[in-house]
Amino acid sequence: MLGREYVNKVISEVEKRNNGEREFLDAVKEVLSSLVPVFDKHPEYISEGILERLVEPERQIFFRVPWIDDNGNVQVNRGFRVQFNSAIGPYKGGLRFHPSVNQSIIKFLGFEQIFKNSLTGLPIGGGKGGSDFDPKGKSDREVMRFCQSFMAELCKHIGLDTDVPAGDIGVGAREIGYMYGYYKKIRNANDQGVLTGKGLSYGGSLTRKEATGYGLVYFTEEMLNDNSLSFKDKTVLISGSGNVAIYACEKATELGAKVVALSDSNGYVYDENGINLDLIKEIKEVKRGRIKEYLEKVPTAKFVEGCRNIWKEKCDIALPCATQGEIDLEAAKILIKNGVKVVSEGANMPTNLDAIEELQRAGVLFGPAKAANAGGVACSALEMSQNSMRLSWTFEEVDEKLKYIMINIYKNSKKAAEEYGNPGNILMGANIAGFTKVADAMMSQGII
Ligand code: GLU
Repeated sequence: MLGREYVNKVISEVEKRNNGEREFLDAVKEVLSSLVPVFDKHPEYISEGILERLVEPERQIFFRVPWIDDNGNVQVNRGFRVQFNSAIGPYKGGLRFHPSVNQSIIKFLGFEQIFKNSLTGLPIGGGKGGSDFDPKGKSDREVMRFCQSFMAELCKHIGLDTDVPAGDIGVGAREIGYMYGYYKKIRNANDQGVLTGKGLSYGGSLTRKEATGYGLVYFTEEMLNDNSLSFKDKTVLISGSGNVAIYACEKATELGAKVVALSDSNGYVYDENGINLDLIKEIKEVKRGRIKEYLEKVPTAKFVEGCRNIWKEKCDIALPCATQGEIDLEAAKILIKNGVKVVSEGANMPTNLDAIEELQRAGVLFGPAKAANAGGVACSALEMSQNSMRLSWTFEEVDEKLKYIMINIYKNSKKAAEEYGNPGNILMGANIAGFTKVADAMMSQGII
């Protein structure tokens, strides 16, 4: 059977079995379509049913999360953990707390995580979890009670060598702290490496907070340099104002770029003098406020409602760091018309499939999420190593390792794209490089 025929057959089976799971189906189609030349060259993957096994999570855990709000009322949320693939290491991936969370979103994120984690070169499998709980507007005590109830169930399924969750949207150091505390209490075990993204006083790693954003910029700078470009003097748009966006803004600015806009779910701020990041950190990291408050201190900046409008501003480099599906075909066309040279993804799957094709057709350099934003999970794996060794590396040591990993991800993705006949297509190269390592491990371990 030829590669194309095999891939189409598996995609249509996945569509039948996972009917209506749009995000998951998009993620599967994006990866599988890139792999056609791999199956032409390695028919042994077909006879071992690698793809049929890869698209089916090894285990999915869905559970009830009851908790009591500040008014004494009972609230019920849904909890998820999808343990997708453990061929190259323990399941690893974040927890997302956001009202949009459902089975399709967790499966798409878990599926992406398999290849992303493989690309880091570190021994981590793919998993993801979360809840439709919305931390926005909740008191600290409500967040704590929710996290404790969530962990009361999750703790039965995770472990140092089985599954190691971390943060994602809506889950930062506060939530990880509450979850780790409760895990330790009910398991009577100081298993620090069971969660990553921990606070520095109890096993967290220096650079973890900055890692996804810094990593995105290291990867993108490598891609720019490879094309005789750099961040220096470039105008940059960054969507989002969470962990990824803030530290991408910090590193891009350090490399000489001017970041002119950041957003949250209400809209975006545009500051032609370059965003004042200390102010953004104060609003978002300390006060947990809205980005609009930026104007109280910088009245010359503008606030525009509707976060998606950010792509209408002129830029050289766009770094989508908010969430999935934020650059659609229309936004891609506007970016191209305004002269964008690079789109590199800090969020998971922020660019729709048709928008990616449009950007690639126009010759825009494209950094796909699973490669470009792998710095967060890579640093999580470094946190696991430090926890196992019971020591801590310095900021500089971790940062240096992170940079090395991101540069290698770019080089390996580029090499795979060349080897399989599509030079310059980093999306295809990342999918192939991530896939082949997992597929080889699955081949060696038998049909399981
Ligand atoms: N949520 C992040 C991601 O999408 C990090 C996961 C982790 O550190 O395990 O890769």
